[in-house]
Amino acid sequence: MKIYADNAATTALSDTALTAMMPCFQEVYGNPSSLHSPGQRAAEKLAEAREIFARCLNASPREITFTSGGSEADNQALRSAAALGARRNQRHIVSTKFEHHAVLHTLEALEREGCEVTLLDIPPDGVVTAEQVRRAIRPDTCLVSVMFANNEIGTIQPVGEIGAVCREAGVLFHTDAVQAAGHLPIDVEALHIDLLSLSAHKFHGPKGVGVLYARQGVALTNVIHGGAQERGRRGGTENLPAICGAAAAFDEACAHLKGNAARLTALRDRLIAGLTAIPHTVLNGGTEHRLPGNVNVCFEGIEGESLLLLLDAKGIAASSGSACTSGSLDPSHVLLALGRPHEVAHGSLRLSLSEYNTEKEIDYILSVVPEVVGYLREMSPVWDALERGERPHLI
Ligand SMILES: *Cc1c(COP(=O)(O)O)cnc(C)c1O
Repeated sequence: MKIYADNAATTALSDTALTAMMPCFQEVYGNPSSLHSPGQRAAEKLAEAREIFARCLNASPREITFTSGGSEADNQALRSAAALGARRNQRHIVSTKFEHHAVLHTLEALEREGCEVTLLDIPPDGVVTAEQVRRAIRPDTCLVSVMFANNEIGTIQPVGEIGAVCREAGVLFHTDAVQAAGHLPIDVEALHIDLLSLSAHKFHGPKGVGVLYARQGVALTNVIHGGAQERGRRGGTENLPAICGAAAAFDEACAHLKGNAARLTALRDRLIAGLTAIPHTVLNGGTEHRLPGNVNVCFEGIEGESLLLLLDAKGIAASSGSACTSGSLDPSHVLLALGRPHEVAHGSLRLSLSEYNTEKEIDYILSVVPEVVGYLREMSPVWDALERGERPHLI
């Protein structure tokens, strides 16, 4: 059996997205900026894609900018808000310790350029509160950036409440909604969002395309300088095939949101119940405010990397956290922020499901993981010490 359970890293392209992309390669290949008819046909497709995103987010098409992905959208959102703040001498930014590196590393760059950043602690359930945000806002705060749902532990943040706090304080609010888009309803008006990032390859669209929503009146600073594309806010000929694929995938995901979420939640909860029944295992993040497809656990006494390799050999593609931290020996910054000790954080497993996963696959995962965890523990000197009582159990 071959199972793909790493959908938080990326997803398979949907048939709908592929079908929407195909004409853009050899038929509608004009440059949307050209005045001739082939160009205008391309411009029409671009406008249609923009309308789809606007409709699904309850925004207006003028508020939608296409980027090269979620990372670029995050970079541009934060840089734009920082530039607007600097004009008013506001250089303080509030964010959280468990943001994606596209946000955290941009904040580090902004700090080197004179901004001051406050990163909020992560409560044990993985849900930051609006009250934490309220307390962190100062007179010189120009931006709050809190992700919609965490990419490792899947916890959903109270975005609407945080948006309301920011609106009241007159501070811009950005949310990295890459993991939420296509899985949770997003209404930028109702949630008081000023800036929002999303990425198509996380909801069965193509890689290399994202969207930055910027509320009317929130001026964007260019990250990519060039031509007048995207109303001058991002230079470079638009990646029309990818943009059309992204829009089709988003439209489809939003149309089936409720049904998909209900089915995935049931699969997720079976996995959580089965995996947490393994002794000395803990679920990372609470169960209540959690993405429908996310499971993230720590098994004491094993190395996540070894677990992944053995699971891969059994046909299961999973992850220890984010794709970005694999390859480095550091444990996940998200699990550390959640308060897991280093040795526990090392034994993490993230299974992220999509609509394409089946009940049978869950049965298979639940038959394989306990066996592999048991095997690794048998070979582990750390586990041996735990079992002999030479080391205290941390889980
Ligand atoms: C994947 C991801 C990103 C980066 O998106 P790319 O399109 O791969 O650049 C940013 N934020 C979160 C939360 C993500 O999961």
